[in-house]
Amino acid sequence: MPSSDTTKEISSLLLAALKFAAYKHRRQRRKDLEASPYINHPIEVAEALSRIGGITDLLTLQAAILHDTIEDTETSPQELEDYFGQEVCLLVQELTDDKNLPKQERKRLQVEHAPNLSTRAKLIKLGDKICNVGEITATEPAEWPLQRKLEYLDWAERVVSGCRDCNLELAKHFDAVLKKSRESLV
Ligand code: ZN
Repeated sequence: MPSSDTTKEISSLLLAALKFAAYKHRRQRRKDLEASPYINHPIEVAEALSRIGGITDLLTLQAAILHDTIEDTETSPQELEDYFGQEVCLLVQELTDDKNLPKQERKRLQVEHAPNLSTRAKLIKLGDKICNVGEITATEPAEWPLQRKLEYLDWAERVVSGCRDCNLELAKHFDAVLKKSRESLV
């Protein structure tokens, strides 16, 4: 058992990451029918890593909570480094697409880069794809035609094939979620 001081420190650091991400994503919504608050997504990713993957590493869980802040909000790498340290900052940067590139190129690079990510980044990438793939159903996202959903699932499978070696339980869970989403579309 960690000492109560250590437990307190871990709790504080995780809650600080949640507070920061909740503030940064405060005006964003997910693509589901209810337009859920965006923060639900990073919380789900971190929770899946902990519950399904058995991840207890603080840096990984913090970066999971923060993984979309640079890409999708007005957050600079320097800001993350100041609040959470260099390791968390570098980890989030590993998971950040270059928004100057066209969308198709960014998607291609995710497939290409997945095998070369650090182990922590692979875990978060896998958790991210589990959550995103789980949100694809016959009815959601409502504005996506069937073909776009099918292509998204195929692409997510290709990304995951490059990073699934980091955690067997998460990889198995991804397969189950992918199968369920595919079945919902036929
Ligand atoms: Zn994400």
